[in-house]
Amino acid sequence: MIPMVDLKTQYKLLQTEIDAALASVLTKCRFILGPNVESFESEAAAHLGAEYAISCASGTDALHIALRALDIKPGDEIITTAFTFAATAEAISYVGAKPVFVDIDPKTFNIDPALIPAAVTAKTKALLPVHLFGQPANMPALQELAEKHSLHIIEDCAQSFGASIQNRMTGTFGDLGCFSFFPSKNLGCFGDGGMLSTNSEQLAQRIKLYRNHGSEEQYHHTVVGYNSRLDEIQAAVLRIKLKHIERFNEQRRHIAEKYTELLAETPVKTPHTDNIGKHVYHQYTVLLPKELQRAKVIEYLQTDGIASAIYYPIPLHQQQAFATTDAEQQLPVSEETAQRCLSLPIFPEMTDAQINQVCERLTQALTR
Ligand SMILES: *Cc1c(COP(=O)(O)O)cnc(C)c1O
Repeated sequence: MIPMVDLKTQYKLLQTEIDAALASVLTKCRFILGPNVESFESEAAAHLGAEYAISCASGTDALHIALRALDIKPGDEIITTAFTFAATAEAISYVGAKPVFVDIDPKTFNIDPALIPAAVTAKTKALLPVHLFGQPANMPALQELAEKHSLHIIEDCAQSFGASIQNRMTGTFGDLGCFSFFPSKNLGCFGDGGMLSTNSEQLAQRIKLYRNHGSEEQYHHTVVGYNSRLDEIQAAVLRIKLKHIERFNEQRRHIAEKYTELLAETPVKTPHTDNIGKHVYHQYTVLLPKELQRAKVIEYLQTDGIASAIYYPIPLHQQQAFATTDAEQQLPVSEETAQRCLSLPIFPEMTDAQINQVCERLTQALTR
């Protein structure tokens, strides 16, 4: 069996350290906003090179709180990508704003900056790029657009912890970076968890209010906030995994290189690397040839115990939940990518034998 991610192996490798940290939390019985959360936030901020990191209950909450902290209101428009997980656009809908979907660059699968100017209106308030699959979006181009049109930038870094452009980490380019610590993400905890990064003291303060019932001083509520905190158990796990994240990401890059080498002679299109951004391969996603039936490839891999996944089968502009006035909107690159993409197993502990097995089986599936 080769799973998409192997959390059991990772736990076994870190078990002594993690069990001791968990036991310490249980002994102290301090579960919410305690010393582990505080330490994790400063360690994560230092790691990212951000002034502030504020944890919360999930990546979805991080996006929601980001939009609240920037005062995004009903009627506002937020430009984002349709080729992403639903949470990116859900958060925009939570505050009553409208997600405006722009097509992606066929090489990187990230929002195409060249298509953004045509989507900007008087109601546009922010750009919300996603660093999809761990590949940084084109932040220099997006920063230029944001400046020109006076827009905020919120980065969806749920899949990109540790990814960078010229040594600058994703999550430090925009007004705010939003991270997820869902167990299968590059940096994952043992439940739900999330975080925001920022260099703005004012935004950091607002985020702290929103994540904790709008309250800085207990029982004094200045805004209507949320119950959205990372708990001590998750923070304790994250502090340990944070120490290993650079190595984990390096291993992911090594695996991706091997995959690309072994699949070079096949008709699949392997992930584009532009040497500008440093990809962290949250997913290793290939494009299958148009004429091939994806379901048959998946089934053929499965009969050999190899998992694979479609991230994402339906772009958001075609989802019922986001069917707004632009129901007829066409985003050809997102649509075609959704039909041809296939993500292969990737996790730091993956062995060369496993990589070889996936490539052999996939090559057979393509030439059958
Ligand atoms: C996982 C993910 C989210 C949501 O994070 P949760 O912690 O699961 O709420 C948001 N955006 C993207 C791109 C994601 O992959």
